[in-house]
Formats: sequence, C-alpha cells, structure tokens
Amino acid sequence: MDLYEHQARQLFAEHGMAVPEAEVIDRAADAKEAAGRLGGRVVVKAQVKTGGRGKAGGVKIAADPAAAELTTRQILGMDIKGHTVRAVMLAQPVDIEAEFYVSYVLDRATGTFLAIASAEGGMEIEEVAATRPEAVARIPIDPVEGVTERKAAQIAAAAALPPEAAPVLQRLWQVLTREDALLVEVNPLVRTVDGRILALDGKVTLDDNAGFRQARWGAEAGDPHGDPLEAAAAAKGLNYVKLDGEVGIIGNGAGLVMSTLDVVAGCGARPANFLDIGGGASAGIMADGLSVILSDPAVKSVFVNVFGGITSCDAVAGGIVQALRSVRLTKPLVVRLDGNNAARGRAILDAHAHPLVEQATTMDGAARRAAQLADAA
Ligand code: GDP
Ligand code: MN
Repeated sequence: MDLYEHQARQLFAEHGMAVPEAEVIDRAADAKEAAGRLGGRVVVKAQVKTGGRGKAGGVKIAADPAAAELTTRQILGMDIKGHTVRAVMLAQPVDIEAEFYVSYVLDRATGTFLAIASAEGGMEIEEVAATRPEAVARIPIDPVEGVTERKAAQIAAAAALPPEAAPVLQRLWQVLTREDALLVEVNPLVRTVDGRILALDGKVTLDDNAGFRQARWGAEAGDPHGDPLEAAAAAKGLNYVKLDGEVGIIGNGAGLVMSTLDVVAGCGARPANFLDIGGGASAGIMADGLSVILSDPAVKSVFVNVFGGITSCDAVAGGIVQALRSVRLTKPLVVRLDGNNAARGRAILDAHAHPLVEQATTMDGAARRAAQLADAA
C-alpha cells in the first residue's frame, strides 16, 4: 500500500528527518486559518497517490491566507492522472538551493535493497536515469548491516550529495526497516538557502504482508485490494486471488492449488481464482471460500481439489457437507478427494447426495469435468 505524502512526511518526522511544518485540510474554508498558523505564505499540495503533481498543477505557492484559500479551492477536486484530489497539504515554503533524489527500494532482480540517489533531484528520476545514467548512483545495501554511518557517507559521495545529507540517509533507512516499507523515496530532498537539509516530498510503500502491524493507517492498510471479491475474501482471512476465468478453484496447500490452476488451464478452461484453504480446512473456511467463489458472477463451475494429509479426507468431506448447509450451492461442484482416508471422505459425500455435487477420483478427471460443466453452463 502506498501512503499519502502527508503520511510519509509524518513517518519521516517520527524518525528524526527534518520536514516543513504542514497541515492537511479537505475543505477550502479551512485554508485561511491553516495558512495563518503556518505563517501566511504556504505551498498548497494535492494529496494523491501519484507522482508528477507539480507538473499537473497540483503544487502551488500561495502568497497569503486569502490566496491559499483560492488555490486550495482550485486544487481540491482536481483530477491528477485519474486520481481525484480529496485533500491538500499546506506546507511552509522553503527557499531551495539544491534538490536531490534519494530512495531505498527492495530490488527483486538483485535480491537485496538498493539505495538510489542523485544530486539531480526534483524532476522525475526516470528521466534523469534515461538521459544521464551516470548522474544516478545505485548502491546495494546489505539488509543485515543496513545503512551504517560509513554506508551513508558512501552513498552520499557516490551521488555527489553534500556530506550533511548522510545522517538523513541513515534515518530514511530506519523508516524503511522499522515501518515495514518496501520503498521509501524523497524527491526532492533539498538543501535550503540557510543550509538545512529537508525532505520536501515523500513516497512510502508499505509491505501489505505487514498490514496487521500497520493498523495505525486505518482501514486502508487492511484493504490493499482494489478488487471487491479479494477485499471480501481478505475480510474473511482467506488466501484468495481473483483471476479471469470461469472455473472456481478451492484446494488445500498453495502448491496443490497452483498445480490445479495449471491442470484446469491444460483442459482448455480458465481458472476463476486462486484459493488455498490451508491445512485445517474446517467447515467454516470451506463455507467462506465457497460463498466468495459463488458470488463471482464469472464462475460457472467449482473444482474442490483436496489431498488429505494431517487433515484427512473424511474431515474435509464433513466440512464440505456442513458448508453446504450454510451456503446455497448455485453452480455445479466437482470434488476430488485423495490421500489420507479418501474412501471414507468419498462415502460421506456420496451419502449426502447433493444434486449439484459430483466426485472424480483423479485430478485430471476432475479438472476435465469442471471445465466441461463450465463450458456447458
Ligand atoms: P511532485 O511533483 O508530485 O513530485 O511534488 P513535489 O512535492 O516534489 O513538488 C514539486 C516541486 O515543487 C519540487 O521539486 C519543488 O521544486 C517545488 N516545491 C515544492 N515545495 C516547495 C517549497 O516549499 N518551496 C519551493 N520554492 N518550491 C517547492
Ligand atoms: Mn516530488
């Protein structure tokens, strides 16, 4: 999840980085007073989770509180790259002497963290990297050692940043590691005319896997999902990913579910989702999983693929039967049970004899049948 600039600013401040004084408002009527508290002259900045706000007219200096209100009125409601501006941050303007770029990012290609830094900040770093790659330093960081005083000095030197920027580099690393971030970026980091180093703009991307530790960011943090089905599944604690197809998939174990997707695709059908109900596979989880999958209008058939291990097939079959009492089955369900106590599990489902449930003994056979049922629907 990306944070807003003002949230990034707050984290920077908490970790000892210098940032301009600022206030966030969502009504133009509040601009005058806020600007007054900040000294009259302010920068009005659109709060949207996209870059290039400056170029789009979303960052403007207002000379006094009355101008701040006018500018806020202009910027609120503005569309910036498809994002509607719902709040602005008013910040104390600073006199900039130089603008730098610094960021830490988890680089999957090199399998470690990278410091990316440049003395040519302010504009889009992609542009600088494309036209003058030598102006952008890229330094790998040992995640255990982190950004030590020495490392910070090395990054600053490599990017031709002033040595006073080095302590900021150490604090920014703290933001990344202590706040569960995958990316922290400051553009621009500035040196002011009176010699201070200030973070003027910030971007922080939190690791959604750590969402449970980031409750302070509110509902947003717990809901990184744009897709409503994924959001509903996440709310039920399910390991669900929406896909484009028509065959709903439930399996136990991520590896088995991945192979199930492949086998279904191999039958010429398209899986509608990934759903791993894990080892326990209780009736409750089965019911939750089924209800999410059945609420997907694209789903035409459902394939439940279970390999009984510690949780044996009879327990899973019992779970399915119980789930079918609370969830109204509206689409055909093909179940393949194999492994521990498979025969007993199959007998339980046979005894239940639901008209929309059928069984197959092999994974391939079940996938073919589910694909066929989806096709016929
Ligand atoms: P972005 O366009 O979304 O990256 O928004 P920024 O917050 O980075 O602002 C864009 C540009 O506006 C910066 O690179 C600065 O040049 C300028 N800017 C932002 N805040 C101030 C300020 O306090 N004083 C001055 N003089 N310029 C500012
Ligand atoms: Mn910026």
